[in-house]
Amino acid sequence: MVSRVIPVEPFDLVVFGGTGDLARRKILPALYRRFLAGQMGETSRVIGAARSVMDAAGYRDFVRAAIDEFDPVSAGDEGALAAFLERLSYVAVDATGDTGWDRLAGEVGSGRIRAFYFSVGPRLFGALAERLHEYGMADSDSRIVVEKPFGRDLASARELNRVLAQHFHEHQIYRIDHYLGKETVQNLMAVRFGNMLFEPLWNSQYVDHIQITVAESVGVGGRGDYYDRAGAMRDMMQNHLMQLLCLIAMEPPAKFDPDAVRDEKLKVIRALDPVAPDNVVRGQYEADGDKPDYRAQVGDPESTTESFVALKAHVSNWRWAGTPFYLRTGKRLKDRASEIAVVFKETPHSIFGEDAGRHRNILTIRLQPNEGIELGVTIKEPGPGGMRLVDVPLDMTFAEALGPDSADFPDAYERLIMDVIRGNQTLFMRGDEVEAAWAWTDPIIEGWEERGDAPKPYDSGSAGPDDALMLMHRDGRRWREIKP
Ligand code: NAP
Repeated sequence: MVSRVIPVEPFDLVVFGGTGDLARRKILPALYRRFLAGQMGETSRVIGAARSVMDAAGYRDFVRAAIDEFDPVSAGDEGALAAFLERLSYVAVDATGDTGWDRLAGEVGSGRIRAFYFSVGPRLFGALAERLHEYGMADSDSRIVVEKPFGRDLASARELNRVLAQHFHEHQIYRIDHYLGKETVQNLMAVRFGNMLFEPLWNSQYVDHIQITVAESVGVGGRGDYYDRAGAMRDMMQNHLMQLLCLIAMEPPAKFDPDAVRDEKLKVIRALDPVAPDNVVRGQYEADGDKPDYRAQVGDPESTTESFVALKAHVSNWRWAGTPFYLRTGKRLKDRASEIAVVFKETPHSIFGEDAGRHRNILTIRLQPNEGIELGVTIKEPGPGGMRLVDVPLDMTFAEALGPDSADFPDAYERLIMDVIRGNQTLFMRGDEVEAAWAWTDPIIEGWEERGDAPKPYDSGSAGPDDALMLMHRDGRRWREIKP
């Protein structure tokens, strides 16, 4: 099975922050792969924009080096890479000044889709929107893509929404959460709403609890400055884990269209109970051999920012009342592994006797690595010797079921950038969703600040602080092992 490539209309995509880390690692390699897939047609172009002064040839060298480093396999096709680089140009602009804007306005074509990727810090979003308007680039069909973090609390998110709304309508604003671009996340919706099997069981009567884990094995690395001002709650929980929770918990939308899906997600966020202090645990990683501890890594021996957070959330509505959602995320954990596990209740009675044990079905949605979906079912252990039960996975990994080419799907950034060009906002966060997520997150963070709570230390390579384990133990439950 070969993945279908749906043509898109010709576009000019301006990448503000086109010399930055995110552009190098994700955006430019993703565009090159879409070029290879034939989605840049004959004429679509990419224009890098940042303050650094360089000409188009210099920028092409820069992009070539980025693709060599971050997608060496695709970079191997010299002819294709050279053809892609021909589609690139560069304009030096200052978001906060007037340098370069006339030139940029001349460079961006008309009669084609115009998209502007704001791959810069959020403090520049307002200035960029203003300049695009001032220099006549913000027509009613142009789109802007904004990166996370979308604010650091409700007040700043509101302010960003207000500033962007001065020059762009909501249908032109694409707030990226790359987790929503993952193939498996969309497959989760297909599994939920494309099968009769799951939906009748998808409620507190049959689901014991839900676990969402986004674990990283690396520390803060070179992003210490940013991370220390954010922490796991702002950097991961408020956006990525919250979005995953929404997709699991939402009611079936009437249609798979942007506002129908986002309306349902918003209702979930608004149904979340405030989190009591004893239902949330924050942690900070310790040193590991010659790898420094969190505080040394961010260069602040007094830092009280969390590199780990775990919490128990309740969605107070008819479907979910009584089913807890346990969420955790952190750095320097045992492995890099992200998954959602829907843990069903035990069978009410064992006809095979207590020795056979009572079993639970678990639906696991693996986000990384090895994206796929797996359903644990209980069967008889083969062979003589009575009725012994074992749990086996029904593996819905795409490559197994649909052939090896099916695993060759676009990565999240590729898909999301093409959705921007297509004008499809389904996988992007709406302004009111982001605000509602902050409204839920803010009191948790304010509570830490008011009480002076310090994060609990945890060993690098562990599953986080012991208190996080207790969060589930005291409910008679256990976290699933963090493994790829
Ligand atoms: P970065 O490496 O610091 O890059 C910032 C970019 O903005 C550079 O190209 C810089 O180039 C440009 N820039 C700075 N000030 C400017 C100005 N006044 N006018 C025009 N351009 C300006 O940052 P990044 O890591 O790529 O992050 C970009 C955005 O993505 C941030 O909002 C970040 O939070 C978000 N993000 C990043 C990652 C990641 O992994 N890096 C992940 C998720 C989200 P010049 O200095 O040449 O102007």
